Amino acid sequence: MPVSTSTLGEPGSGETAPSIDRTPAAGVETGIYVCEVFSAIQGEAMLVGERQVFVRLAGCNIRCAYCDQPEALERQPGPCMLERRPGRRDWEVLASPVPVATVVDAVDILWRALPHHSASLTGGEPLMQMGRTVELAAALHARSIPVMAETNGTLVGALERLAPFLSFVSMDVKLPSVDDAGVALATQRAFLDTALAAGVATWVKIVVGPVTDPSELDAAVDMVAVAASRQPGSPPPVVFLQPVTPFAAVTTAPSPGQVLGFQERALRRYRRVRVVPQTHKAIGQR
Ligand code: SF4
Repeated sequence: MPVSTSTLGEPGSGETAPSIDRTPAAGVETGIYVCEVFSAIQGEAMLVGERQVFVRLAGCNIRCAYCDQPEALERQPGPCMLERRPGRRDWEVLASPVPVATVVDAVDILWRALPHHSASLTGGEPLMQMGRTVELAAALHARSIPVMAETNGTLVGALERLAPFLSFVSMDVKLPSVDDAGVALATQRAFLDTALAAGVATWVKIVVGPVTDPSELDAAVDMVAVAASRQPGSPPPVVFLQPVTPFAAVTTAPSPGQVLGFQERALRRYRRVRVVPQTHKAIGQR
């Protein structure tokens, strides 16, 4: 998942901060677990370079070896940091879970303060809080804010409910040799088929590392090619190969020669394959 928020802090300009609904959550059942809401530059895949409002939801159903968002893995009470002016990191800190309406207002404040491309529901795994995530996406959609889900591509039932409110899906396809997360390719196939059948603009991100098993990469790319062939009326999804950024248990990135080889291998099976590293980290947005 992209973009963290601990850098880029700027002192406030003295402007009056917009107000946010501070209504306390009525309880676990009525709130949504959110780590942070902030404005940042998308650093990955199709929308790289676009300004987005990010909503980082707490909780993830898998554990990738290279995960750079360890603080977002557990769906549990904690701080909910809401940026009040785009890019200032002038946090207002509430207690998560928070009412969905509070999150919608926080997104809307940033959205109205600066032109943004869309809102990104990220995590953690944003589809894990299925009902609340649907509620959030529907509310943003009702305000004409395009919504993107950055997802690990494993929760098919949640996607079926969420898809009517999504404009974009950025879906990971996990390779066991890199992620060590135990995700079945059949699950990811069902997820991609569902996204494409729903008519949501969808692309696929595959993290590659120095120990990537070429046969796993082949199978993943073949899966995308078959899914694309089943939807002849839709633009075929682009596959983005993302060289892993060393973090946590992963200490080395693939060599340039390996990355060239991975793309060459993938292109021989499927025409739409690009390589995009995590550009937000290259500019210090971490
Ligand atoms: S799916 Fe994303 S948030 Fe979940 S463990 Fe993997 S990298 Fe981390």
